[in-house]
Amino acid sequence: MRIVLLGAPGSGKGTQAALLEKQMDIPHISTGVLFRSAVKEETSLGRQIKTIMDSGELVPDDLTLDLLEQRMNQADAADGFILDGYPRNLIQAESLDTLLETLRWPLDDAVQIEVDSEEVISRIAKRAAKEGRSDDSENVARNRLRVYQERTAPVMDYYAEKGLLTRVMGTGTIEDVLQLILSVLETGKAAASA
Ligand code: ADP
Repeated sequence: MRIVLLGAPGSGKGTQAALLEKQMDIPHISTGVLFRSAVKEETSLGRQIKTIMDSGELVPDDLTLDLLEQRMNQADAADGFILDGYPRNLIQAESLDTLLETLRWPLDDAVQIEVDSEEVISRIAKRAAKEGRSDDSENVARNRLRVYQERTAPVMDYYAEKGLLTRVMGTGTIEDVLQLILSVLETGKAAASA
């Protein structure tokens, strides 16, 4: 199965994608995780993107697509994937379609985890205290949320128009949200939203 997981920073995408990876035995592909490891390893990509990530802005589309293509070319992605953090704007959504068309891998579902802005900011503040991610300070988190609302919101409409989007409430427990997502994936969009 090929799934795109959408949602604001702090909506729980990464947490749910990791659980889905185990449950469904397909890889969780997170552009944020891949970028953070490039920064940590101080690769040339990592050096180019550190400041951008620390400000909460988007890494340029060409660099992001290169990284995604490299990851999609690894053997395990052929079994399916849960994509987290990509696409983040319309250009990326179109690039993903082109890439998947070339590979003849149609997308099965786009699932958006909905959580309101204040809840997201409070979750990020808690994560900052625990994990110390350099882009989790309150100002940067607010900027990431603004970037999400401006650039990523149109991506939901893009998938809705294709009939691929289902929204699930992300405010229950981690297990509740996981079950909601699994029911969407198992029963298909029409049944889940009926
Ligand atoms: P979150 O969803 O909490 O914002 P991510 O781990 O998905 O966190 O992303 C962290 C940062 O990595 C983003 O703020 C951005 O700078 C960069 N990034 C991740 N994915 C993309 C993408 N698809 N396009 C551009 N930048 C990205």
